[in-house]
Amino acid sequence: MNIKQNFIEGLPRYPYDFGVGGYIGVVAHCTGNYGDKFGDTAINERKFEAETWGSAFVHFFCDDSCILQVANINYKAYGAGKLANGKYVHVELCQTKDTDKFLKGYTNYVSCLAYILAKKKLTVIDGRTLVSHQWVSQQLGGTDHADPISYLKSHGKTWADLVKDVDIEYKKQTAPVVPTVTIDEAVDFICGKIKSVSNDYWKRQAHAVQFLDVMVTKIVTQWKKDNAEGITPVKKIPGFSVITTVDTERALNYIDFKIHLSDPEGWYRKSINVPHLDAFFVKLAYVWRMEEIKK
Ligand SMILES: [Zn+2]
Repeated sequence: MNIKQNFIEGLPRYPYDFGVGGYIGVVAHCTGNYGDKFGDTAINERKFEAETWGSAFVHFFCDDSCILQVANINYKAYGAGKLANGKYVHVELCQTKDTDKFLKGYTNYVSCLAYILAKKKLTVIDGRTLVSHQWVSQQLGGTDHADPISYLKSHGKTWADLVKDVDIEYKKQTAPVVPTVTIDEAVDFICGKIKSVSNDYWKRQAHAVQFLDVMVTKIVTQWKKDNAEGITPVKKIPGFSVITTVDTERALNYIDFKIHLSDPEGWYRKSINVPHLDAFFVKLAYVWRMEEIKK
């Protein structure tokens, strides 16, 4: 996603009701016009807004070629009446009658709406964090527009479609990144963790048991469950979709063996306390699988 910033000069800078940057969601709009002979574009909307912001303005315009941010998201805009403006960011979708252009613009719109919510981890909640201008008119008042419902409908999309699409995009934008690490780096990481747990032998052993229990139960159970349901790969653990098949027990044995090699007396073996277990294991299993593929 590529957001172009070109702020309109001289816009007022008033904080939201909950302070600077304190928005609680986003209002989805459409522009309500199809532009001149060149069509309705984000750049043209910006030009218009630069002259008319005294009566109304929004933060973003989306068209088929870009997401254009024209106002600072940390300060309120005047997009949908006093009650919404104090709480919400405003995004406008430029209108077109061309299906292909619509779909491109819609994709930018979805990305932009998700981005605003993801930036503050607000999640996608229809009627709370993600609202239409129509919702504002009906629920908060102070305005009477009904966009973007009928425009979306003219291209076969419902409000529910938009909410669903923003939610999918939100999850993508907030998903943990699967880093690329080598198996040796991963094992070094495990050994480092083990050594930092405690100087006390029994404490380390206790951590080891706890760690392995949680880890094995979680991953193997999920894997077997998915297998029983005929789901390959292990889709239900975030990040696992990149792996075609994961034999978790073999992966664990392999890791165990590596740790044993680096610590033959077993004092540190298996005694580990990783705070982000899932993410770490996704990493590890991914690396392990990559090693397998190379063979
Ligand atoms: Zn509107």
